[in-house]
Amino acid sequence: MAAAENDREVPSVLCSEFLNFSAKDTAAKWLQVDNLPKEVYQHLACYVPKIYCLGPNLNPQNEDLLAQLLLQSPMEWYLCGEEPTTGLAKLEQSNQPSQLCGHVFKVGEPTYSCRDCAADPTCVLCMQCFLGSVHKEHRYRMTTSGGGGFCDCGDTEAWKKGPYCQKHEPNISDSSQRDPLANLSDEMIARTYNVFSIILKYAVDILTWDKEDELPEGLEPPVRGHSYYCMLFNDEVHTYEQVIYTLQKAVNCTQKEAVGFATTVDRDGRKSVRFGDFQFCEQAKSVIVRNTSRQTKPLRVQVMHSSVVAHQCFALKALNWLGQIIKFSDALRRILCQVGLQRGPEGENSSLVDKLMLCDSKMWKGARNVYHQLFMSSLLMDPKYKKLFAIQFAKNYERLQSDYVKDDHDREFSVTDLSVQMFTVPSLARMLITEENLMTTIIRTFVDHLRHRDLQGRFQFERYTAQQAFKFRRVQSLIGDLKYVLISRPTEWADQLGEKFLEGFEAFLELLKCMQGMDPVVRQVGQHIEMEPEWEAAFTLQMKLTHIISMMQEWCASDERVLIEAYKKCLSALTHCHSGFTDGEQPITLSMCGHSVDTIRYCISQEKVSIHLPVSRLLAGLHALLSKTEVAYRFPELLPLSELSPPMLIEHPLRCLVLCAQMHAGMWRRNGFSLVNQIYYYHNVKCRVEMFDKDLIMLQAGASMMDPNHFLMIVLSRFELYHIFSSADCRKRYSRDNANKDVVQQNNTLIEEMLHLVIMVVGERYTAGVGQVEGTDEIKREIVHQLCIRPMAHSELVKALPENENKETGMERVIDSVALFKKPGVTGRGLYKLRPECAKMFNLYFHHYSRADQSKAEEAQRKIKRQNGEDSVLPPPVLPRFSPLFGSLVNILQCDVLLGILGAVLQWAMEPSGGHWSESMLQRVLHLLGMGLLEEQQHLMSSTDDTDTSFNFTLKISRPGEAPGNTPSILALLETLQNAPHLEVHKDMIRWILKTVAHIKTTRECTASAAPADSSGHSQEETVRDKDKAERKRKAEMARLRREKIMAQMSAMQRHFINENKELFQQSLEELNATTSASLEHSPSTCDSTLVCVGPRRWHAGGSDRRQVVTCILCQEEQEIRVDGKAMVLAAFIQRSTVMSKNRKRPPYNPDKYDPLFMHPDLSFGTHTGSCGHIMHSHCWQRYFEAVQAKEQRRQQRLRVHTSYDVESGEFLCPLCECLSNTVIPLLPLTKTTCSTDQPDLKQWVNITYQQTKALHSAHRKTTPNSDEGDEEADSAHDCHPPDGFKLDHTPKNPYSSTIKEMLTTFGTSTYKVGLKVHPNEQDPRVPIMCWVSCAYTIQSIERLLVDEEKPLFGSLPCRQDDCLSSLTRFGSACWIASSQAVVQSHFIRLLAALVPDSQVENTPCILDIDMFHLLVSLVLSHPALHCLDSSGMSSDTAQLYFLQLVTVAHLVQILLTSIPEEVQMEQESGGAERVEEESVCMLYNILRTHLSSRLREVSSGWHLLRSVKAGILPFLRTTALFFHYLNGAPAPPELHAVGVGEWEALCGYLCLPSNLLQLYYNNRELLEPLLQGWCSHPGVLQGLHNSTTLVRFPRESNHLIELPEDYSALINQASSFTCPKSGGDKSRAPTLCLVCGAMLCSQSYCCQTELEGDDVGACTAHTFACGAGVGIFLRVRESQVLFLAGKTKGCFYAPPYLDDYGETDQGLRRGNPLHLCQERYRKIQKLWRQHSITEEIGHAQEANQTLVGIDWQHL
Ligand SMILES: [Zn+2]
Ligand SMILES: [Zn+2]
Ligand SMILES: [Zn+2]
Ligand SMILES: [Zn+2]
Ligand SMILES: [Zn+2]
Ligand SMILES: [Zn+2]
Ligand SMILES: [Zn+2]
Repeated sequence: MAAAENDREVPSVLCSEFLNFSAKDTAAKWLQVDNLPKEVYQHLACYVPKIYCLGPNLNPQNEDLLAQLLLQSPMEWYLCGEEPTTGLAKLEQSNQPSQLCGHVFKVGEPTYSCRDCAADPTCVLCMQCFLGSVHKEHRYRMTTSGGGGFCDCGDTEAWKKGPYCQKHEPNISDSSQRDPLANLSDEMIARTYNVFSIILKYAVDILTWDKEDELPEGLEPPVRGHSYYCMLFNDEVHTYEQVIYTLQKAVNCTQKEAVGFATTVDRDGRKSVRFGDFQFCEQAKSVIVRNTSRQTKPLRVQVMHSSVVAHQCFALKALNWLGQIIKFSDALRRILCQVGLQRGPEGENSSLVDKLMLCDSKMWKGARNVYHQLFMSSLLMDPKYKKLFAIQFAKNYERLQSDYVKDDHDREFSVTDLSVQMFTVPSLARMLITEENLMTTIIRTFVDHLRHRDLQGRFQFERYTAQQAFKFRRVQSLIGDLKYVLISRPTEWADQLGEKFLEGFEAFLELLKCMQGMDPVVRQVGQHIEMEPEWEAAFTLQMKLTHIISMMQEWCASDERVLIEAYKKCLSALTHCHSGFTDGEQPITLSMCGHSVDTIRYCISQEKVSIHLPVSRLLAGLHALLSKTEVAYRFPELLPLSELSPPMLIEHPLRCLVLCAQMHAGMWRRNGFSLVNQIYYYHNVKCRVEMFDKDLIMLQAGASMMDPNHFLMIVLSRFELYHIFSSADCRKRYSRDNANKDVVQQNNTLIEEMLHLVIMVVGERYTAGVGQVEGTDEIKREIVHQLCIRPMAHSELVKALPENENKETGMERVIDSVALFKKPGVTGRGLYKLRPECAKMFNLYFHHYSRADQSKAEEAQRKIKRQNGEDSVLPPPVLPRFSPLFGSLVNILQCDVLLGILGAVLQWAMEPSGGHWSESMLQRVLHLLGMGLLEEQQHLMSSTDDTDTSFNFTLKISRPGEAPGNTPSILALLETLQNAPHLEVHKDMIRWILKTVAHIKTTRECTASAAPADSSGHSQEETVRDKDKAERKRKAEMARLRREKIMAQMSAMQRHFINENKELFQQSLEELNATTSASLEHSPSTCDSTLVCVGPRRWHAGGSDRRQVVTCILCQEEQEIRVDGKAMVLAAFIQRSTVMSKNRKRPPYNPDKYDPLFMHPDLSFGTHTGSCGHIMHSHCWQRYFEAVQAKEQRRQQRLRVHTSYDVESGEFLCPLCECLSNTVIPLLPLTKTTCSTDQPDLKQWVNITYQQTKALHSAHRKTTPNSDEGDEEADSAHDCHPPDGFKLDHTPKNPYSSTIKEMLTTFGTSTYKVGLKVHPNEQDPRVPIMCWVSCAYTIQSIERLLVDEEKPLFGSLPCRQDDCLSSLTRFGSACWIASSQAVVQSHFIRLLAALVPDSQVENTPCILDIDMFHLLVSLVLSHPALHCLDSSGMSSDTAQLYFLQLVTVAHLVQILLTSIPEEVQMEQESGGAERVEEESVCMLYNILRTHLSSRLREVSSGWHLLRSVKAGILPFLRTTALFFHYLNGAPAPPELHAVGVGEWEALCGYLCLPSNLLQLYYNNRELLEPLLQGWCSHPGVLQGLHNSTTLVRFPRESNHLIELPEDYSALINQASSFTCPKSGGDKSRAPTLCLVCGAMLCSQSYCCQTELEGDDVGACTAHTFACGAGVGIFLRVRESQVLFLAGKTKGCFYAPPYLDDYGETDQGLRRGNPLHLCQERYRKIQKLWRQHSITEEIGHAQEANQTLVGIDWQHL
């Protein structure tokens, strides 16, 4: 049915109507009528169903065109009163636009926020505005938009500074006051008003219409049709796959169509899936409903009359039209706002805008989007109406939110999402709070939605159903709204604002009361808990509210009266929560050290305890704020503190802290992970500010108002330790209490935790209000303590610090004062290191350290101290003073109960063993003692007169215990302990304490006697002892360093053992060679003054003396490389490559038919071979590989997981270095050559060779049973006699051992298989060719690499590449033996024919289409198959030289034909020799011109020509030198071991070529002239020259990865305008840039999947096959991540080359710091690519991180 509809034309009826229709006349008629709405409705009723929705697949452009002509045009005529284009242009001209930018963001577009000036993080700029703003120079953050929202440029409330960019700078100062309607005529206003109100009402009527089969009054069509649509609606319940599957069944469509339907439904919210009569549609509907109703609620489907759908389509069109029209003039926009917000006849909340909002959740996605857009561009752009709209929005708030909570669409598709646009505007937010009581409304609405409570009215999340959980998730967005409202604090408080805020605050307290004590836990004894209780919901709520709670406090803090009122309210809420908190609790009296206190008995280990105490914590926060105020300093009696009951305040926070301590002590193990997680979050940086930190403050507040002895007794009692310390003989604990080891252990931990808590209560003073500190002191101290653990990157620090509601930590302001920045290298990241002078702030018992942090920091700090040669003692730091309200806390240190506790622990510590005390316990006691002493010291220093002697810690600790115990004083105990051998580790600290005591005593005495103190008061003895110790330490340190060095050397040796040995061997070999070569008697030409690598004069190795011995990495046995020995192989990796390609557009070849014999000079596809250089016996490797195979099979059966290598295609990891490999190269010795002195010259040689090939031709023809050939021809061929000594019937002996033969086949077949991507077939004639071209390609790519890295040609290659190249070339020269002789011979004949024309060879390419180096390598390597038949004494060395000469001449010609010398450059005068060369090159050029009948440009002089020839041929000479070096083993002359001058001469000498290469031609003119002519007459040459754009020119430049912009946001911007090429204008979700060719792809998406070799693959994978022969390097722009792909199954992510100012990458773009290109890192990626290491890199990454293996790379 769909097909039948496809080609439908616009109905002819309409065509005639369209021809007769006049928009002008219609508009004129409308001007006359009385009832305009009725008239317009009639018009719409008539035309809309005729234009829209006449079935599926009608061309939408037609619809748009007709709608424009028949519907919009009359309205525009009416509105303008004249030709619309003219009228609108006039409007636009007279418009004075407002200064708001208002650019609406597309998905993925970059947005910028200034961290210094934005009012809040939701204030953003578009890229255009940002670049023209002052914020470019500030600290900014960059993000990608999720779509929606607009640019805030020009909004003065959004920016503290620089609200305008250059473009939006206002030119009239009072533009906001001006009425935009002023310069519009009254008639125009009236007409606009008429048309807007009719159209908007029409759109609202139709979009909110819920009947499927009829239309609103006045819109019933004159003739009613009988067609229907089956409309499918979007929901968030069913998956893509479910929908696609169902549609295929229900409407009989293909999968592709179904995907299309599903995509549209997902995007627009609905899509008609069938068109026809009612029955037909109803049938489809029932199938869909039946198919989707099984588990969930069914998909929503409606059968709708086509006219209803038609009007809905046009209604959307009309809204769009309104949006377009108002762009012409702010006046029109204002009229539209007025129309929209005008109250309807039904009274309150009945405007058209209200109607739309209230129906929001009933509309489909597409409709919502359209009208939200219109709201954004109208109501939110007009300052006056934005306010009115905000009021309406607030009035409807509760209803809108309830609708949203019930709806299932994401919030971005809900009208509630507009809240951010209004609530974040400070003036609007305050207006809404005061006038609409918005704060209270939001909070009440929120609380109303969480109705599930326990008996005490607290939230109960535990038994949530799935639906309640869903609702809970959605209702959280209200917290976001509350945050917006609070985000900017008022600077001045109007009375009414204070009133309404406090009302909101009270509502907020109601919310917190529902949380106070929720999710209580009870310790599980005996059995483990059966089911982990739900805890996440409560913590989610806590986390979401964290910033709100903080902001509430900040609001309160900004006005003293508000603060005091809020404090009172909070206190009464807390009292209410705990009313009767002693109910049922048994009152008890505790007494210790002569003090006693009344409290209750409460065992946390037996009764309920909750972690959630938000009311207490809010009060703690307010208390600290109150303590900061003027009042607290001056008139604390005015504060509402008298109502406080300190024991009540501390009770619940204390219980919570004890719970944590007990968990650490292992008492709550049976409660499972739920509790572990809760306590983790309680301390976590995301929650601790409003949880743990506030509990501590509450304890401090309570304790400061209590007798410290009472406080400590209550603490002991809650810790369940009271009985230990209260008993008279507690000091003798160890002797009695040995009953249960576990209990002892438990109590030890509890004592440690309790002591730690005391340290924190007295020592944590860095909260403003608690201590006398600034806000920045707190953050500084946090950073210092993080950096005390280790140096950290910026992002690590950010993660460790709490963020405020603006996502700021405040770190940047202070970081430089406490840390030094160290820049990153090519890897790693920038690090902050603690400034040495800040180390003194270090507090081992910093309250935010976890136990692990603490021990790491302790170790690090001690190490630093040791390194600096200091004492490694870590005494407590000097602390700031307490604020007055908290001042009394210091007395805890010197109170009797604490001293009792400290004394007891010291007493226990006298006994070395027994486990009744712990090192940590003692360490904490010593720390507390240290704190007491420092406190006293500070008191002494700050007191001007001696009146302040109330704090006398030294006195207290010097006092012995009272009767009857008569225990020694603490000081006495310490003096004893300092000599105890079992306390070695604590001696430093004890000594420090004693020293400090002595110091304080002298100070006191001095001040008492008013004499200046002599601070250097330690005794002689002490210094001596210190010296001794320092010396001991130094020696120990030296010994340690020596040990470490030896260990390091040993492990390094182990690691490099094999490599080093190999190098050693090679070294000694070369020495050996050097000595032997000098004494060679039979080759007089090898005098070492001229090193030549090719030709009869070449350097010859010393025959049998040349032994090469290697070690197998698997069995460690040594083996000599011999022709008849055991085969040794090199692990190798073969891959296809396009790295050097000069033509990425060349279509991929057909692997079965492709003839690789001649490489095109564009090098578009090559085969690269690399190796890690590790050598094995072939049989050892085979055993290893079989084992890998077997293991892999077992693993796949068992686990069905992938590995980083694919065993099935022969891949394995090198057993030593785990480098990815897929074959092995056999190692071969150098071939021996004989050399007779009498060799033919070039001409003779060419002749002989030609004869030889002719003879072979006929021989081949005879052996091939080819009936097509005529007998005569065969006979005539037979006629030519082979030259002397050429034995056609000779069969050469295969000299190799069987294992080497086997390996020759193995490697040959692998090269063939991988290079051509075919199935292995060792018989294929292309096997040897692939080996030769791989050899040539690999040498070429290495030569390029050396040029790019500016390294010399010889001597700079790493061993592994050296070994690889030499084995590759030697293999190349031997591989003919493994193939059929005749095949290799025929290859040779074809190759030679490219240079020496041969009538019997067809399809020879022209010389422009041949890469000459490839040709040379193939000729040289295939020649042995011919040479072996020759016994005439002609040397193969001669042949190699002549091949080189011929190919060089051909290359010269090739370069001359393709070079366009640039004559613009100034010529320079050249010297004599150069002059000759210039002339000769000119001559040759002119000869070529004559051959080509002047198709070449005329050249006046040879200067440029010579230079381009020399530059063009240099790479060829270099690669050739490498090739012959590895083939013949001739050492290279020293000039080639360095970069720079003399290279040319050295190369020519080494290659036995004249340094004026042109001589090659002139010396053999007679022979070469006809060849030249032959080359030029090839039709391909003319063709190539004609089409000069595709010509490859020489030298070929190295390929680069594409240029990247310096600023990352330029890339984001580029990607944001990229649309998916397949789904017509849709934004791509994962735009991905190919770094090789610059193509942007739509990755990781259904739409762009294609089929590749039978698999569905994503755009990136598909692209790699076209662009990179299977290897790809991409940049995922949204993620800021580099992606490496290889094949379909391998990939890894790699650090992007973009860094922020802190030297860090931002993978995932989460932090949003500006990113800039780091050239070094980009070059590193480029180098990986150029050296063909991408696949290897992926292999290593996947081995290191197994999760990478599981990623579905092929769909990226
Ligand atoms: Zn803008
Ligand atoms: Zn702007
Ligand atoms: Zn700024
Ligand atoms: Zn071995
Ligand atoms: Zn290896
Ligand atoms: Zn796509
Ligand atoms: Zn590409």
